[in-house]
Amino acid sequence: MEPSSREILTEIGRQLDANVFPHVFDGGVVMPSASDVVSFALGEETDDEQQRPRGPAAGSRKGTARRKGTPCRSRQAGASARISGRMLRTAYEAQVGSLEKVYPTSRVFPDDDGMWLQTQSSVLSGLDYGATFLIALPFAPGFGPRAWGFWNDPGGPLWIGPRHTNFFDGSICAFSPSDNVWTEGGNLTSLVDLYTVWALRHLHLKVTGRWPGRQYSLPPPNEVLNPYYRLAQCKDDELCGCGSLTARYAECCKPRDLRFDLGRLAQDFVRHMGGRLGDRKPPLAIADFATGECTAPRISDVHNLMAPMARTSKQA
Ligand SMILES: [Zn+2]
Repeated sequence: MEPSSREILTEIGRQLDANVFPHVFDGGVVMPSASDVVSFALGEETDDEQQRPRGPAAGSRKGTARRKGTPCRSRQAGASARISGRMLRTAYEAQVGSLEKVYPTSRVFPDDDGMWLQTQSSVLSGLDYGATFLIALPFAPGFGPRAWGFWNDPGGPLWIGPRHTNFFDGSICAFSPSDNVWTEGGNLTSLVDLYTVWALRHLHLKVTGRWPGRQYSLPPPNEVLNPYYRLAQCKDDELCGCGSLTARYAECCKPRDLRFDLGRLAQDFVRHMGGRLGDRKPPLAIADFATGECTAPRISDVHNLMAPMARTSKQA
């Protein structure tokens, strides 16, 4: 990586640690925010963006690339339950044109239960490969998007994970529903921006060895599993996996987590979650879709469209 790219990456990471969110330019180029102003009122800004005209200046998009969250549930509570399937279809299909202007490589694949989006992001200026996102968007309300990320490595697509991916299909966990940064039927460009910043966090982890920005604990009812999750995933100098906005893991929850027996915690984790932390990976049909060897799988085959409530506790 060019020194200048590394410098930009480091600065974005520094801002993410300070809860300052980067700009995302067209094509998915993430750049540092112009100021160190901490952003609040996440939900309101996201709503506004659905009506905002877009342009190459990323100022109008600064509200999109917000917090990520380890434990996310695809199901959107609240407002989404009141949205009908036809409304979701209309909302998504109407945005394809504007998404293609911002992310020109975007492609849409129809599906019996919704639509697939395949889109590419540059992620970082000067990076000689970018990322591809495969995004399943069900039209039935209550399920939310499900997406996978891959680096466009010359040797073939490389899955982006396992940090901050869902159990156990390795799908992207880029934000927590409680953040209100994106809700079902919302702006697709904002959604791809969020995935793009998630990929940039992975790049930061790869280059510098640490995850930048806020991290979340596992969602209820998995609080008992959090010590193991943090011990296994969190580096000492990363923001603590309990969701703290300021405290590093070593000086926050780690001393308490260390009182547990790690082997016992690992067993409890497998018993409750039905698999190990390291078992996360994309379904074969998704991997084959990414390589171009196969067409898009049916959304119903990779996204549980039967029981939205039942699956929430298995994700993080
Ligand atoms: Zn903590």
